[in-house]
Amino acid sequence: MICNNLTVSPKGHLRFAGMDAAELLCRFGSPLYLMDEQRIRQNCQTYYNAMKAAFGEAALPLYASKAASFMEVYRIAESEGMGIDVVSCGEIHTAKKAGFPMENAYFHSNNKTDADIAFAMENGVGCFVADHPEEVLAIDAIAAEKGITQKILLRLTPGIDTHTYEAVNTGKVDSKFGSAIETGQAEEITKLALDCKNVRLAGFHCHVGSQVFDSDTFLRSAEIMLKFIAAIRETYGFLAEELDLGGGYGVRYLESDPEIDIAANIYEVAAFVKEQCKALNLPLPAIRMEPGRSIVADAGITLYTVGAVKTIPGYKNYVSVDGGMGDNPRYALYESPYTVVAAEKMNEPCSVLYDVVGRCCESGDVLQPAVSLPASMKRGDIIAVLTTGAYNYSMASNYNRIPRLPIVMIKDGDCRVVVRRETLDDIIGCDL
Ligand SMILES: *Cc1c(COP(=O)(O)O)cnc(C)c1O
Repeated sequence: MICNNLTVSPKGHLRFAGMDAAELLCRFGSPLYLMDEQRIRQNCQTYYNAMKAAFGEAALPLYASKAASFMEVYRIAESEGMGIDVVSCGEIHTAKKAGFPMENAYFHSNNKTDADIAFAMENGVGCFVADHPEEVLAIDAIAAEKGITQKILLRLTPGIDTHTYEAVNTGKVDSKFGSAIETGQAEEITKLALDCKNVRLAGFHCHVGSQVFDSDTFLRSAEIMLKFIAAIRETYGFLAEELDLGGGYGVRYLESDPEIDIAANIYEVAAFVKEQCKALNLPLPAIRMEPGRSIVADAGITLYTVGAVKTIPGYKNYVSVDGGMGDNPRYALYESPYTVVAAEKMNEPCSVLYDVVGRCCESGDVLQPAVSLPASMKRGDIIAVLTTGAYNYSMASNYNRIPRLPIVMIKDGDCRVVVRRETLDDIIGCDL
């Protein structure tokens, strides 16, 4: 199947991380997110080991925690030696409460409020990735009030089109993120940051997109960023010590998606970066990469119970499940593809096409259209959606006042609830 943590038992049941999916659903209730701890750790180790070997000891991968943010994932990231990206006070609070060493946290976002900035400083966030000039000034002013010097990187847009989906394409000149090199705004913000007394500019950041399957975009953006670093040294005598190349390596949602050798890609980027540095006579900066999706996506699946199977003769068939856009809004948002299977009928031929839809009062509540499933589908069957570890729980909502799902973490045949199921009282918890 699409990931080697997925197998099928002799009786045709889906097994995930060595466990029978149907048994876990029975034990922990429906619907349910499952996560494979070993897989998260292996994904961290792939980045950590390849980056240290290819770029040297100063390099560090940062887990972009917006992909899946809950306390246990920060504990796992810490124990694997990863830094983290955070994008809000909520993520900062979660990481801090989990005991994550906040000096290894990088604070992103294209709009940090004064309150966010103060909160991040009070919680010891090591580095801010500043997006635009007014934010640099706000960070400087708040750092001055607190009597500290705040390390920052500047987010630049290298002007690259990744040809992926528009909503996840973030490196183009007209992006809402960062300051563009092409327009001269990147140089202006650099000059501004260098003049600020309470920020220490450590270097530059770019993040050009998501779900990319080769290193081409990383090579092109690295080239532009390194040329910019060389030009800035020439003009201002400032030598960037850190270069953050962002995240974005893709994962397999479908059998037809390419397999990507991330370690080999990192070596390829490193060889190119070293060659460029040599040509530009620059010392190799401390490299950061920010994988989110490729750390957690294939470490997660979601299980649902079928409530209704509906056939509209001459039109289409529906399978309705007890979850939907509340726990996975990605098809509704981006038309994201997913592999969907009948978890207890893995050995039956899939001969009928069904739209697998959720329970929300919203026609757009589709998990995946036109899925091949067995003709025997009926109420009570179990549906598994694969590769849901990234941007599912973290994008979940309470639309229709449906409680959010729990996350059960599997490790070596043991299961533990790391995020409990929301209760109906949680739903009214903020109501007065
Ligand atoms: C979302 C994001 C990432 C992670 O992207 P993935 O595609 O999940 O690897 C990294 N850096 C920044 C700044 C981001 O916004």
